[in-house]
Amino acid sequence: MNKSLKRESICVQGGWQPKKGEPRVLPIYQSTTFKYDTSEQMARLFDLQDNGYFYTRLQNPTNDAVASKIAALEGGVGAILTSSGQAANFFAVFNICEAGDHIVSSNTIYGGTYNLFGVTMKKLGIDVTFVNPDDPEETISAAFRPNTKALFGEILSNPGMDVLDIEKFAKIAHNHGVPLIVDNTFATPINCRPFEWGADIVTHSTTKYMDGHATTVGGAIVDSGQFDWEAQGDKFSGLTQPDESYHGLTYTKAFGKMAYITKATAQLMRDLGSIPSPMNAFLLNLGLETLHLRMPQHCLSAQKIAEWLEANERVAWINYPGLKNNKYHALAEKYMPNGTCGVIAFGLKGTREDAIRFMDRLKMICIVTHVADARTCVLHPASHTHRQLSDEQLRAAGIAPDLIRLSIGIENVDDILADIKQALND
Ligand SMILES: *Cc1c(COP(=O)(O)O)cnc(C)c1O
Repeated sequence: MNKSLKRESICVQGGWQPKKGEPRVLPIYQSTTFKYDTSEQMARLFDLQDNGYFYTRLQNPTNDAVASKIAALEGGVGAILTSSGQAANFFAVFNICEAGDHIVSSNTIYGGTYNLFGVTMKKLGIDVTFVNPDDPEETISAAFRPNTKALFGEILSNPGMDVLDIEKFAKIAHNHGVPLIVDNTFATPINCRPFEWGADIVTHSTTKYMDGHATTVGGAIVDSGQFDWEAQGDKFSGLTQPDESYHGLTYTKAFGKMAYITKATAQLMRDLGSIPSPMNAFLLNLGLETLHLRMPQHCLSAQKIAEWLEANERVAWINYPGLKNNKYHALAEKYMPNGTCGVIAFGLKGTREDAIRFMDRLKMICIVTHVADARTCVLHPASHTHRQLSDEQLRAAGIAPDLIRLSIGIENVDDILADIKQALND
């Protein structure tokens, strides 16, 4: 595809490039398998000597078209889709880590990722040190060990809406010879392209704005192709040494800049599964076709609501980076000059019960375990997603017990505001 196309055009036209007589719209290749004429043709595919489809767990044309659209949006060399954002973050790390390794991660990350790193990956023998991303470079650097293989952060943290200093994180990672992996779910490549600031790998929960309609759980991993794995000696032996399960093939030698993403497909997808169905990839693609129209509206409306909340005397605190006196305003202006996203974190004066009463009184705005889609929704992490945690544990995870996560949709902003007003003014 024409490489100079702008993001808006990539949203609409990227990925699927039909040839003469083929469907204009991305078809759903709802087939587990693909046909060949000779045994030799099939054998070459299994040896990764030829490019082609043979089994949907490894690759599928519908999924690949959507992955390549996301890669183009991020400005990366390649991408894969996963069945969820959880799978994306797991694969992104596990692709370069094994038992005995260690990663450093920001502590202001999505709760599911926090559990994945802090509990489940620990059981696999991969250790994590969580750091406060706002700490100075030296403090974060002190968490690195000789066996550290990656630094991880979230561009906009869910649910706190903190902004990651991407350049600072990239510098720390590269000083230690490891890649920076960032979760760009909330900002999306419409508002932030982390590769332009030094990130090496980007992950997404496409479940959120990318799908945008709350129909489809999914994830994606995008590779910038910029990290020099071979320059780090044996540190990334999974990429730079022969893979026994592929007859001694070495990913960096065979695939160059595509080494990381090819390994994620050829080895991790092969062995662990976690592919999206082609039907889900199709639905994700429909969402992507309007991402560039939806994101500015989410930002515009969220800005208006955030300003109103900030001025309301019942509001105890608010974190929305678009607000002028927000702690992260300068970072947001630098990395996301067109806006961040539609998610607002705030607290009401009073107790947990006051937060619950406010949410129960909302009419158009619904309480759902979701965020970042077309419909305005609300969630109280302390009562819902994080209800197993005490107030103290919540604070340690960077979540205020009174935090209300309000996700502004693309309804008329006056209707959204009216609902908030009536719920607050009892
Ligand atoms: C939702 C979310 C995830 C997990 O994604 P799923 O698609 O629910 O598995 C990961 N990171 C962030 C920032 C998220 O918001």
